[in-house]
Amino acid sequence: MTALLRAQELHKAFGEREVLRGVSLELAPHEVVAVIGASGSGKSTLLRCLGLLESIDDGRILLGDEDISDPRVDANRVRARFGAVFQSYNLFPHLSVLQNVTLASRVVHKVPKRQAEERGMALLQRVGLADKANDHPDRLSGGQQQRAAIVRAIATDPEILLLDEITSALDPELVGEVLELVRQLAEDGTTILMATHEMAFARDVAHRVVFLDGGVIVEEGPSAQILGAPREARTREFLTRFN
Ligand code: ADP
Ligand code: MG
Repeated sequence: MTALLRAQELHKAFGEREVLRGVSLELAPHEVVAVIGASGSGKSTLLRCLGLLESIDDGRILLGDEDISDPRVDANRVRARFGAVFQSYNLFPHLSVLQNVTLASRVVHKVPKRQAEERGMALLQRVGLADKANDHPDRLSGGQQQRAAIVRAIATDPEILLLDEITSALDPELVGEVLELVRQLAEDGTTILMATHEMAFARDVAHRVVFLDGGVIVEEGPSAQILGAPREARTREFLTRFN
């Protein structure tokens, strides 16, 4: 299977601190991969580097057959091929939910307003947020805001969805509705790379799990194997914290 995304030997430092120390990763079309690891292990930096939200110091990133780490590429054009959702502060507070959802389609992809809004409403309908379309984000619960942020991320039909601990800032009772939406997207065949601490969810939904520690991939493999029978002591040690 040809990979949709291929990262080769990525290196990234912030000043003296090496955060990614030779990370190589492949993502096949329709694959769901969970990146797990302690806080500070480099999960967010990895996702941000892959989505060109952060520069790399060394290595190569291929999206399809394009080298998107080539300094000559138009980063904004490449960023538009990804959808991204973060832990918090995803929505623009001064825009309505529908305006949030349609902004990138209209501005980046030049979709006519009416068409963008029809599609935006259809997506909001699908996730049960149609009645919130004209509200500002602060009128929504945290779970509804994250669902709206996911809708915004998929509204432009990105090739890859990057989800960075999207339930970490939520009250526990709101986590389920957000994960349920991710599960549906996964079932629809969306290609997803997600950093998560939701081990049960990762086991259930991700095809593959990657364990990152100190900026290197210690172990990766099918979710059930990594989460159920890890080979490496560091993976086992990390996972005991979640049991
Ligand atoms: P994780 O998402 O696994 O918690 P991060 O990728 O956020 O890990 O961070 C890895 C390390 O890189 C941490 O030590 C963090 O402090 C550092 N780091 C992340 N972003 C920056 C930045 N913009 N400037 C300086 N240090 C950073
Ligand atoms: Mg992080």
